[in-house]
Amino acid sequence: MIPECLALGVMLGAGGIPQDDRDEPVPELPAEIRRCYRLAHWSRAEELLQEALKREASDALRYGLINVLYRARRYEECMRECERLAGTKDAEMSAFALALKGACAWKTGDVTGARTWCAQAKEAADRKAPNAFPVARRWARITLAFLSWERHESPRFLLFHPPDPAGRAGAPAVAARLEALWDATAALFGPLPEDRIEVYLFHDQRHADEILGVPLPFAVPRDRAIYALRDGAPGHALGHILSFAAAAAQGKERPKSAFLNEGLACALSEDELWERRMKEVPRLLLQEEKLRPLSELMKTDGIDGGLAAAGGAFIRWLLESQGKAKFVKLWVEYNDHAAPWEFLGLRTGYKDDAAPWKVVYGCAPDELDAAWRTSLRER
Ligand SMILES: [Zn+2]
Repeated sequence: MIPECLALGVMLGAGGIPQDDRDEPVPELPAEIRRCYRLAHWSRAEELLQEALKREASDALRYGLINVLYRARRYEECMRECERLAGTKDAEMSAFALALKGACAWKTGDVTGARTWCAQAKEAADRKAPNAFPVARRWARITLAFLSWERHESPRFLLFHPPDPAGRAGAPAVAARLEALWDATAALFGPLPEDRIEVYLFHDQRHADEILGVPLPFAVPRDRAIYALRDGAPGHALGHILSFAAAAAQGKERPKSAFLNEGLACALSEDELWERRMKEVPRLLLQEEKLRPLSELMKTDGIDGGLAAAGGAFIRWLLESQGKAKFVKLWVEYNDHAAPWEFLGLRTGYKDDAAPWKVVYGCAPDELDAAWRTSLRER
């Protein structure tokens, strides 16, 4: 479970792209499998893994397979594969397989099984050392914490909430908000994923700290999961998930620009606070002569809430003045033009940030920047 968004320093330090599950020791898998994983193309990833396993069985491939099956939500099959991997000599992989089996059991409603396998995962880690195998421990700990939680379903969301009156009361309202937001986003992007998005609702940040240890809200786009406050506004997080899905459906990753990623999530959020910030922040920055050129902002790594709001305002303006179709095209085309490894500090020699803008909008971002600034002054 890798948070996206509010762990701004960590998350956006990598240019706003979704991080590979770097707290899970994903082994060296063939490039095409890793690409499918990044794009959440689970069926294709599974096919490739199964083919590779037929050629040569290995723990690394099976480890990849359980991660893929879990995210494809094929829990029964995932449990069978976890069981096989749990028998490996690699103690860390074995512990993780037990923890993931526990998580699958919980998802299928088998609380007893979940408790047993999570306890086994923890024992396996303890056998090594008191703090050994943190990933397996984390999965087991989080699963155990969720065991008593209740579920609330709406057409496109599966909500998990604490088993008490406050938790129960919050879920339907959040579901209704998200359902409405889904329709608004579908109007922009077209067909969106069909399986439900999971939403985990917490009483407050302290409650979330006890279980997850990260600031709310956040989204994990590849897992189709949102972690939020029960009385919060998870629209921004939904924006991340749906914009990821829209690009992935075209076989593309999202733009590797925090300004665009966070901006779009703000623009889609329909949240009061973000609406106000999108109105106020860019105008204030402009007045104070602190609004940096768009071409620079799009390359900024660590962006804060203010710049996210400015990004949202820019994207709103772009959608209104230039139309939705162009923006959607830019969103899925952008990475064909960007130097893919620049965010790691590696120079590949090829670079033309303006290229996708010229293709889609017929001009460099600077020209759009000027028009946007004019509109900010006029408002
Ligand atoms: Zn965000």
